Amino acid sequence: MPALPARRPGASLEQALRQAVDRQELQVHYQPIFSLAHGRTLEVEALLRWRKDGAQVSAADFIPVAERTGLILKLGTWVLEQACRQVARWQREIAGAEHLVASVNLSGRQFQHAGLVDEIRRVLVRTGLSPEYLNLEITETVSIEDCEIASRTLRTLRDCGIRLAIDDFGTGYSSLSYLKHFPVDSLKIDRSFVCSIERDPRDAAIVQGVTALAGALGLQVTAEGIESHAQWVRLRELGCNRGQGYLYARPMTAEDLEPVLRKSLSLKAAA
Ligand code: C2E
Ligand code: MG
Ligand code: MG
Repeated sequence: MPALPARRPGASLEQALRQAVDRQELQVHYQPIFSLAHGRTLEVEALLRWRKDGAQVSAADFIPVAERTGLILKLGTWVLEQACRQVARWQREIAGAEHLVASVNLSGRQFQHAGLVDEIRRVLVRTGLSPEYLNLEITETVSIEDCEIASRTLRTLRDCGIRLAIDDFGTGYSSLSYLKHFPVDSLKIDRSFVCSIERDPRDAAIVQGVTALAGALGLQVTAEGIESHAQWVRLRELGCNRGQGYLYARPMTAEDLEPVLRKSLSLKAAA
């Protein structure tokens, strides 16, 4: 019997993901980003969810497949549209949500796509969200080698009024180069620096340093992955004023998040 051709690793996941995209089986969940001073929600981050055969597939597993296969282009536009439409609706319907921001992850692959800026503009028009209420999170997978092209694209987005954030800040090899070359508005301090912050003086020093640097550059800072009250308190002591994490709220469906938002946005002061 002839030997079967060797299957490429991840091929079955790729096939299943293609089917799931075609059958519209993916969902967008939302996680609040909030003021550490007042507990008021400032933004919501859109996070893709895929339920396959009754079990969640981790985004850390399927997003790289989507990136490798190019599926992320279709998926990314879909997430962007869902998030912009949802936040525009919340802005209209929830008291105090007028300035709520939609935060959407943008992969390096989307970034290389020549039509990206026009696509984003079209989504904003279709959904009725003003550009200043869209924040795009980029990671250091956006190649610094293509610095010229990347910074031109980012400047065009910025000129449209869209906000830009560096996600997972501190985990790449060129974080400071990003700050030098790219016109960003905020940094998200990676969860790995937050998880031991109340015990590890080095993490505390890193967070304090990044917060001071961001302050000097006029950027906002968000701490990712806050899971305990002690971390929240320590982050505030170190000068960080925005956060995201399971302690406050997990990512959830728009429907489940709505009452959380209504409660949070009724709080008066904002950071
Ligand atoms: P990210 O953009 O850094 O998103 C934050 C991740 O941290 C999310 O994981 C979120 O569920 C998780 N998280 C939030 N708070 C906590 C916490 O307190 N503790 C812990 N342990 N985790 C927390 P998720 O949803 O699994 O996504 C993983 C990554 O996949 C994202 O990291 C992002 O890079 C990527 N991703 C997710 N959705 C999209 C998307 O629509 N487009 C693109 N391009 N990437 C996406
Ligand atoms: Mg993100
Ligand atoms: Mg992150």
